[in-house]
Amino acid sequence: MLILGILPETTFRAAAALSPAAAAPTSRYWKGNLHTHTLWSDGDDFPEMVADWYKAHGYHFLALSDHNLIQEGEKWVRLPPASDKKASLSSYRMKFGAGWVETREVGTNTEVRLKTLGEIRKLLEERGKFLMIPASEITSNYKVWPVHVNATNLRYPIPASTGTNVLDTMQRSVDAVLFQRRTTGQAMIPHINHPNFGWSITAEDLADLRGEKFFEVYNGHPEVHNEGDGTRVGTERMWDIILALRLSKQPGMPTYGLAVDDSHRYHQFSPSESNPGRGWIMVRSPRLQAEDLIAGLERGDFYSTTGVELLDVHREKRSLRVRIKQEAGVTYTIRFIGTPKSFDRNSTPIVPKDGRPYATTRRYSPEVGKTLREVEGTSATYEFKGDEMYVRALVISSKLKENGHSKTETERAWTQPLIALP
Ligand SMILES: [Zn+2]
Ligand SMILES: [Zn+2]
Repeated sequence: MLILGILPETTFRAAAALSPAAAAPTSRYWKGNLHTHTLWSDGDDFPEMVADWYKAHGYHFLALSDHNLIQEGEKWVRLPPASDKKASLSSYRMKFGAGWVETREVGTNTEVRLKTLGEIRKLLEERGKFLMIPASEITSNYKVWPVHVNATNLRYPIPASTGTNVLDTMQRSVDAVLFQRRTTGQAMIPHINHPNFGWSITAEDLADLRGEKFFEVYNGHPEVHNEGDGTRVGTERMWDIILALRLSKQPGMPTYGLAVDDSHRYHQFSPSESNPGRGWIMVRSPRLQAEDLIAGLERGDFYSTTGVELLDVHREKRSLRVRIKQEAGVTYTIRFIGTPKSFDRNSTPIVPKDGRPYATTRRYSPEVGKTLREVEGTSATYEFKGDEMYVRALVISSKLKENGHSKTETERAWTQPLIALP
């Protein structure tokens, strides 16, 4: 039942957190990944093996976002032959003990019961050290175009639905998450997954989306075209186009960029596999609790990274300062990127060589997502001059990303855009 007028404390806190004011001094950064798959859907390892990988690699929080479900109820899986370098009973038993693992024989096959999120949380969570957040990737499509929307800190799963076009399909999933948030009072957020997967989601769609603030600027899956393809824009440029269009149409409404793994493969590691450890977020909040992390995310008090560690991102009303944790022998370029309020609003459609039109992000003026200042070093500040709609910082490291999704990828970090207030 929808109860209007009675909003829980967490909702107020999230709303109050929209101001760019600095977080409480006791706040710190927590490391986490919001996009992960397990044997509950199309990942190739047991959920607690996956969670254990993240915990052992210094993550503080993890959302297992299997497709169209939360890990509850009874589910049994049949294991592939041991030679497949896939999940194996022996490594599973070795990690958690034979008493933990539940099997049954069906004909000549052995099946294993997947543990529920509740069981895994009891096993692996540690207060102030490791938190698991219920999540799901609402996996839909419009015709041939995939439309995937993550939902973080859900109370119950949301069925996928299809709308009248890509934007409407996306909006339905976003609205379903916001409806659940409103009716349960539990802090939760939708985010748009890999917009260039299947070349399905355009910057214009994302700018027009209502009630949603997050998209994946970096997704570690090797098939999601973060970089674009020469004709179609990459997610980095897409972000600036979204911000320029959205802030023109929905003043004050940001779009924040997330780095995530979208990990599926946990047994063979190479750039062509969707492995864990590629992209993550560092969220500033006083406590390692879902509602605090979500409040931090909603006020843009986080950064996304593929390896660069930031000591601080300081956001004043009209200045953005970045301080990097220096790694020996590594150099850094800090690039401040923004779009002027007076940017040229004209755009042209992309028409490929074969003349066959397709829906893709249009071409915009180079004023959109312009480099405003570039500094070599480990700290830099950008002071607003007056005409900026927003400014964000991209940090490019000279260090090659270990097992990145491409072999030439160097480590990066992205701060969230600081929006100029009227
Ligand atoms: Zn997806
Ligand atoms: Zn996914």
